[in-house]
Amino acid sequence: AFATALRIPKDAIFALTAQYNADPASVKVNLGQGTYRDEAGQPWILPSVVEARRRVHCQKQNHEYLPILGLPEFRKAVPKLVLGARSFDRVSSQIASCQSLSGTGGLHLAGACIKRFSSLSPTIWIPEPTWSNHHLVFKTLGFQCRTFQYYDFESKSLDMKSYIDMLMTAEPNSIVILHACAHNPTGCDPTKEQWQEIGNIMKRRQLFPFFDAAYLGFNSGDLDNDTYAIRYFVNELDMEAAVSVSFAKNMGLYGERVGCTFFVTHGSDVAGNTESVLEQLQRSEVSNPPAYGAKIASTILDDEGLTSMWKKDLATMCSRIEGMRQALYDALLANSQLIPRQAAHN
Ligand code: PMP
Repeated sequence: AFATALRIPKDAIFALTAQYNADPASVKVNLGQGTYRDEAGQPWILPSVVEARRRVHCQKQNHEYLPILGLPEFRKAVPKLVLGARSFDRVSSQIASCQSLSGTGGLHLAGACIKRFSSLSPTIWIPEPTWSNHHLVFKTLGFQCRTFQYYDFESKSLDMKSYIDMLMTAEPNSIVILHACAHNPTGCDPTKEQWQEIGNIMKRRQLFPFFDAAYLGFNSGDLDNDTYAIRYFVNELDMEAAVSVSFAKNMGLYGERVGCTFFVTHGSDVAGNTESVLEQLQRSEVSNPPAYGAKIASTILDDEGLTSMWKKDLATMCSRIEGMRQALYDALLANSQLIPRQAAHN
């Protein structure tokens, strides 16, 4: 029955990790997969996560199914975190939210909902370059994936001209994928002023923002800063939006698959209907999402003390990443054949 199946090459990032794990070399570094490591090169379990786990275990957690849409307190805590408490209160009745299989599952679920149950166009604009899985996720759902030049490799900066050209010519009702912060793979984000320009044009031209929020708080260590674009579009411009949030990186819960995907709509009936669609899609795909990681995340998000502990953990990770990058940059410069050693040290 499977004689026609093609042999598809392995995912490049995960194939590299498998090679890395198999490599017997004692000194090795995996620069492929984006997972945080501590000073000893080991995975880091955030102290806030350790404490949340302890509390979850103390509550003698059972292993019952979650509701189809996921852990209710988690589905509420995430849009509140992302939009800010006051704005969340304003729009909470207009939000359709669903727990997802981390960020990837959130992109897929929101994409499936848009594709099958919205009046948006099946054209989705994806930055070039981007996270490699974007094309696969949206192509699999049947979207027409189009790209726009996001990064100017010459000037090593955002290619704002190409970005604006795309926004000015895209068909109304097209979808635009926006990395909420920490653009993968360039690390280059629009400034606040550039986000405003992007948002204002998108609103005027009726383009639909689909935020991939995989690194909130992991970018600058500051959640207010990293949610700026989403808050500007939703709170200031009053736009409808899709947001897929992952807690893989910012809580180090990679393998637990903790995510939440939500739509901000313009009406409570619309939100209720949309949520019912998400629920049915979820039922058909995973029936109900995994409980453990969502319980940990919501224990953190629902407790002020644990939330501030988490923010400290975010700052720790960010400053170490920054320090590592600087050290790598300095070492590359110092070892560069092109730059005299003397100059590199100055
Ligand atoms: N979006 C982007 C831009 C990413 O870099 C990643 C992870 N590398 C994801 C989404 C999804 O990650 P996960 O499914 O593990 O949450």
